[in-house]
Amino acid sequence: MQQFTYTGNSSRVVFGAGSLQYLLREIDLLGARRALVLCTPGQRAGAQRIADMIGSRCAGIFDGAVMHVPLEVVRQARHVAQELGADCAIAIGGGSTIGLGKAIALESALPILAIPTTYAGSEMTPIYGITEAGLKKTGRDSRVLPKAVIYDPELSLGLPASISATSGINAMAHAAEALYASDSNPVTHFFAEEGIRLLARALPAIMQNPRDAGARSDALQGAWLCGTVLGSVGMGLHHKLCHTLGGSYGLPHAETHTIVLPHVLQYNAQAAPGAMQRIAAALGVDNAAQGMFDLARSLGVPVALKDIGMLESELADCSEIATQNAYANPRPVEKAAVLALLQSAYHGARPAG
Ligand code: NAD
Repeated sequence: MQQFTYTGNSSRVVFGAGSLQYLLREIDLLGARRALVLCTPGQRAGAQRIADMIGSRCAGIFDGAVMHVPLEVVRQARHVAQELGADCAIAIGGGSTIGLGKAIALESALPILAIPTTYAGSEMTPIYGITEAGLKKTGRDSRVLPKAVIYDPELSLGLPASISATSGINAMAHAAEALYASDSNPVTHFFAEEGIRLLARALPAIMQNPRDAGARSDALQGAWLCGTVLGSVGMGLHHKLCHTLGGSYGLPHAETHTIVLPHVLQYNAQAAPGAMQRIAAALGVDNAAQGMFDLARSLGVPVALKDIGMLESELADCSEIATQNAYANPRPVEKAAVLALLQSAYHGARPAG
């Protein structure tokens, strides 16, 4: 009989269309009186809606969240939270906004109520990242895990189709790597497979009609499951490569995940046949790497690193940086093989299978 250890992260999840209506109740359950609402400049209207809903319980809005959580922004937001006497933060948005909430909580232990509007999954993890002098440092701390999460698919109806597609595949990448993680277990397998299955079904429907309420609900539920496994087990080569491509070459987060994932699956295929079978089955195809590539291509999003700003001359250095430290991955991480992987991803070649 298989032996395993499963540690669940404890956060309260309220899911469903219209569940934003429970916001005040959730603030009460946190024992909070004054909430600081966090958002990106582009999502100010959504934050204002939250502020209007909670009225006098709103301490203010901080709309300065940006990608990769720069330390200067974190300092500013921490100062605002303190000045306004906030006793909780409501982060409405994607991974960037939730990441800012986590960075505030890291120092102050301010409880975070997350309202995700993308599929990145940060809300389900105790992982934080802060960028200082161009270097993004990540870590794990239970204080940054949001205490409550409201998943309301109605809030993602306006997420542009192409961002939905790449964000959804970003979520599937968490699940794919969880399926071959050395600390995976039957619970994370179940979540990961169901997460991939829900997203693989929902994303094509969202491309057809971004306001498809059923597909939005499925995608968000899939993102929740994928985020849960991201927070529960260790990630491998794919996340390391994407971290390098984003951190050192400034490539956009979700698009990079979308392009790189099929090539990492191809890289790991022989070393993790069981995981590949599970991924393929969840996608409804015969081959995991090809199936993931075909899904991305059918969604009409970029499938080549050369199309999102990478230079061919940077690939060798990138393979060097990404292989500097040893880390868990089913197939040993070798520089020459990783360079070949990056070359395939650069050209957007369909994996050989
Ligand atoms: P994001 O949060 O930067 O959002 C992308 C853009 O979409 C932003 O301009 C945002 O304002 C906009 N947007 C978000 N929701 C919208 C909506 N419903 N309608 C219209 N526009 C909307 O991107 P992301 O992909 O969600 O997150 C990426 C960041 O999160 C990266 O920095 C990544 O490292 C981090 N991340 C962290 C973890 C973790 O566990 N710590 C997990 C996943 C991602």
